[in-house]
Amino acid sequence: MIIVFRRRATAEDVNEVIKLAESFGVESHMIEGQGRNVIGLVGDTAKIDPLRIKALDNIAEVVRVSAPYKLANRAFHPDNTQIEVRGQIIGGKELAIMAGPCSVEGEEHMVMMAQRMKAAGANFIRGGAFKPRSSPYSFQGLGVKGLEHLVKAREATGLPIVTELMSTEHLDVVVEMADMIQIGARNMQNFDLLKEIGKTKTPILLKRGLTATYEEWLMSAEYIMSEGNPNVILCERGIRTYEPETRNTLDIQAVPVIKQKSHLPIIVDPSHAAGMDWLVAAGARAGVAAGADGLMIETHNEPEKAWSDGQQCLTPDEFADVMAQLSKIAEAVDRTMPEVKEG
Ligand code: PEP
Ligand code: MN
Repeated sequence: MIIVFRRRATAEDVNEVIKLAESFGVESHMIEGQGRNVIGLVGDTAKIDPLRIKALDNIAEVVRVSAPYKLANRAFHPDNTQIEVRGQIIGGKELAIMAGPCSVEGEEHMVMMAQRMKAAGANFIRGGAFKPRSSPYSFQGLGVKGLEHLVKAREATGLPIVTELMSTEHLDVVVEMADMIQIGARNMQNFDLLKEIGKTKTPILLKRGLTATYEEWLMSAEYIMSEGNPNVILCERGIRTYEPETRNTLDIQAVPVIKQKSHLPIIVDPSHAAGMDWLVAAGARAGVAAGADGLMIETHNEPEKAWSDGQQCLTPDEFADVMAQLSKIAEAVDRTMPEVKEG
């Protein structure tokens, strides 16, 4: 429920509404940048009669928000949210480009890949230490050792690291070592995991579930935010459709639709959508053209030898080529590519 006050409303008028909401066990959030007082009520607002609020002093409007997500809803936060990750802003003018191997494969390899990604213009590095594999017989990730290799890669490049967390068992160590936590498609509705990461302040990259609707996806963001962590970045990574030719179907419309419904940043992962290296560039270009705040791209120096997802990995040279293509598109949609930093 959103309450818009008249311009002449006083702090006391606002307090009256906050007190009334509290008496129903509902939280109030000030909505900034509206030129007058606007508050959003979050919680079980069904039991509050809007007429009761309207009867208070200096209320201009009471609007019920029909969508079940509130904190993630643009109505509650009209401006785009910007999230800072180790000095890098996601959701501003500069694109966030996250690149690196699917799995962390070793210290030397991770450091080398991070350096090559940085040289090609990536401003984040990715690598999975805990891997959600379809087969229990496939490589499951290096675990905590993998996190240590990521930290070495960050030390060598200064770039923030993003890595997947699959279980609350590893929450503390991942929070301690990573700059951003990825919640993978398969865990998008692992509500216990979402609640636990919601108690941290670490930025969360929330991937869209394989068959999740926009509303289900935003409700998962709401789980994290309602526990007190507002730092959620959404990631469209392709959804499962009837088409078997590609690994998934990149839902490019997700970018403008989510931007209309939510103030949260959204990035596109064309690698897991495509499942094939040659298709990644087109998805990346489309993502930036559609207004995404960034991309996540899997890369490997020897894709045929990668420990996972090699078929969709770009080589560092191919990645650099995609970055060059993206710079023209970024300019056309008034975005900037990350600055290539020395060292
Ligand atoms: C990954 O990023 O390597 C991954 C497993 O992604 P998703 O959860 O989107 O399949
Ligand atoms: Mn992968």
